[in-house]
Amino acid sequence: MPTVYIALGTNLEPRAHHLEKALELFRALPDVELKRVSSIYESKPVGYLDQPDFLNLVFEAETDLLPLDLLDSCQSIELELGRVRTIRFGPRTLDVDIVLYGVESFEEERLIVPHPRMQERSFVLLPLQELNPELIVPKWNKTVKELVAELPPQDLEEIWKYVPKA
Ligand code: ATP
Ligand code: MG
Ligand code: MG
Repeated sequence: MPTVYIALGTNLEPRAHHLEKALELFRALPDVELKRVSSIYESKPVGYLDQPDFLNLVFEAETDLLPLDLLDSCQSIELELGRVRTIRFGPRTLDVDIVLYGVESFEEERLIVPHPRMQERSFVLLPLQELNPELIVPKWNKTVKELVAELPPQDLEEIWKYVPKA
């Protein structure tokens, strides 16, 4: 079974609850076996700046699902969490992106794997590095650790491990 890495992101409250709920829904899928979950990271929005800070994590899973079927499951979970698509890159209750699907690299209309913007995103690379720093990322043929080292240093100032408020 291929190992996949999936990134979750949210910036609408209750943010931590959205992540927990999403993991619960993934755990309930018969064809997806969750293996490991990263820490939660908090980061400043990029691109569209006038929106709340994000919480992100990445999890590792094994799955029997073909890539597009996995995407369908991811999108059902987004919908279940009440995601409404408004502004691209704008606020959302839950974004579920397939970061890596085994060693595959392909571009289809609905799905590009590895995720085409993963190499520029600290909020994907840092949690992924926690899970598997030596993993070689197809397309760039670099390890996760190497991709992290290539991030602009100022990007690392805008992300930190999330500390829940007491
Ligand atoms: P970004 O892709 O830059 O993170 P986003 O996650 O906000 O932006 P969405 O609105 O969630 O974008 O998704 C837009 C479309 O991207 C989806 O309908 C899906 O078909 C497509 N897509 C392509 N590659 C992927 C991938 N690896 N994971 C999830 N969706 C993908
Ligand atoms: Mg996304
Ligand atoms: Mg998405």
